[in-house]
Amino acid sequence: MTLVRVAPPLEQDVDLSKTYDAVIVGSGAAGGMAAHVLTTHGLQVLLLEAGKKLPIEQELRSMQWPYDHPRRGDAPPGSHHLSFNEYTIRKPPYAKGAAFKHVYSYVGGWGGSDYVKNILVDEKDHPYTGTNYAWVRARCLGGKTNIWGRLALRLSDYDFKAKSHDGYGEDWPISYADLEPYYDKVDLYLGISGVKENLPHLPDSQFQRPSKLNAGAVGRQDLSRLLQALAQLHLAEIELRGTLELAVRQVRQVLLHA
Ligand SMILES: Cc1cc2nc3c(=O)[nH]c(=O)nc-3n(C[C@H](O)[C@H](O)[C@H](O)COP(=O)(O)OP(=O)(O)OC[C@H]3O[C@@H](n4cnc5c(N)ncnc54)[C@H](O)[C@@H]3O)c2cc1C
Repeated sequence: MTLVRVAPPLEQDVDLSKTYDAVIVGSGAAGGMAAHVLTTHGLQVLLLEAGKKLPIEQELRSMQWPYDHPRRGDAPPGSHHLSFNEYTIRKPPYAKGAAFKHVYSYVGGWGGSDYVKNILVDEKDHPYTGTNYAWVRARCLGGKTNIWGRLALRLSDYDFKAKSHDGYGEDWPISYADLEPYYDKVDLYLGISGVKENLPHLPDSQFQRPSKLNAGAVGRQDLSRLLQALAQLHLAEIELRGTLELAVRQVRQVLLHA
């Protein structure tokens, strides 16, 4: 008889014998916000998440200096992060036949690939077989909210009604006016900051006051002002030299003909 040692069952803090009002699959921006809205209205919600709960500050180490990392943030040999171009020149599944042990989507290549290796799926384990598509897939609690760029832009009717506008794609069954009140709610809830610009293709949000610049950003601003002043000084010097040279040439000509 062969005895097989199996891992003990995971600790359950959820009652699966219960009937829930709603079941949500995935805890990213979409699932997380749906769970939040439904539970604040008193619904009993079961949120299923395929990924782990990661200690995200330790995982991303945002404050780590590049020189404190053995490879300045790069993944170890044997791992590869697809470059954006590889999605157009390779046929999915992108990692098929790759010599690398692990293959991850392109965002890891933005100068910190070692930090996202536990957040993104390994394309070798989760091959994507659809049409060419640079699909970044996260597998952890919170999904891609852990790595997004924090740029909260609104879509406009140039997006929703693109076909009517330029003949390409399909019009969405909803328009910007349908979504606007919900954008307003989310903006205030998340505290989106920015400056009103009145652009038809990028509707303004309900902006909070802009965040204050930190010391590094102030320093950069001062440096850029200094560089601008130096550039102006340089131009003034060139102009002055030109004027002087012209004057010298004119004096010489006068002396030659005297
Ligand atoms: C690097 C980066 C920067 C970005 N920057 C911006 C930005 O600045 N502004 C912006 O607007 N957008 C940005 N985006 C896009 C934005 O982050 C995503 O569109 C958004 O977070 C997607 O949310 P989602 O809930 O649809 O999906 P995801 O966040 O991917 O969530 C899906 C969740 O479902 C789980 N899951 C998957 N399969 C299963 C299953 N079978 N069972 C249970 N759970 C499952 C996953 O583990 C994951 O947690 C960025 C994206 C990336 C990758």
